[in-house]
Amino acid sequence: MESPAVVARGLTKWFGDGETRTFAVREASFEANYGELLYLVGPSGSGKTTLLSMISGILTPSSGNVTLEGKDIWKMSSTDLADFRLHKLGFVFQDFHLFPRLTTAENVAIPLILQRMPWDKAIDVAEKFLEIVGLPNKGALPPIKLSGGEQQRVAIARAIAPHPDILILDEPTASLDGDTGRRIVEFVKQEILTPTSCIIIVTHDSRIFEYADAIMTMEDGRVTGIKRTGTE
Ligand code: ADP
Ligand code: MG
Repeated sequence: MESPAVVARGLTKWFGDGETRTFAVREASFEANYGELLYLVGPSGSGKTTLLSMISGILTPSSGNVTLEGKDIWKMSSTDLADFRLHKLGFVFQDFHLFPRLTTAENVAIPLILQRMPWDKAIDVAEKFLEIVGLPNKGALPPIKLSGGEQQRVAIARAIAPHPDILILDEPTASLDGDTGRRIVEFVKQEILTPTSCIIIVTHDSRIFEYADAIMTMEDGRVTGIKRTGTE
């Protein structure tokens, strides 16, 4: 537990080549500590999603490295990385990636089942987390029967149900009304954040700023600052 939960060093991502090369993220270096809820803020297009995709093992960096729980994830084999992601990471991306042919509860249960929790127990846990995000009695429905905001809450339930060590939420309250967003972030901070876990949230939502332990800013692909608030 000596090293920080997340360490990024010189992380850079460009798209295209030659004349058309554009940098989405340039030389991003930062650390996120255990027990910390870190907010990432910055204008649209500043590279937040690209940065978090590299941190989550989804998008290969052009250069730089990412160390999670002391392991350089981009040096792992793809099977080891997939296994690491399954057991250690939770994330919600801006498009929710729900499986259309599964029920809402099955969607939430998937990571638990992949972690070898028995099916019935996983569905019970899924139903509990659907209730926590304010969707009781929706477990049997397919995602298509839910509104955008409800689908976002299903994606949040799926990410938090396994109590991941590293939880990454990309604009998780964008489609939610203020009260719901606040309640969910409050729950995540109280129940999911522990001294051995770490949460990174991208948000523009000033209504939930009070829960931050640290705020990191990005502009034009660069990390421009990180301020630790020291609040619990
Ligand atoms: P944010 O999440 O802060 O809005 P993004 O990380 O989505 O920003 O995007 C940062 C920049 O990288 C933008 O200019 C975007 O157009 C560009 N970008 C992101 N993904 C791609 C891609 N797959 N191909 C080309 N450009 C991309
Ligand atoms: Mg984004």
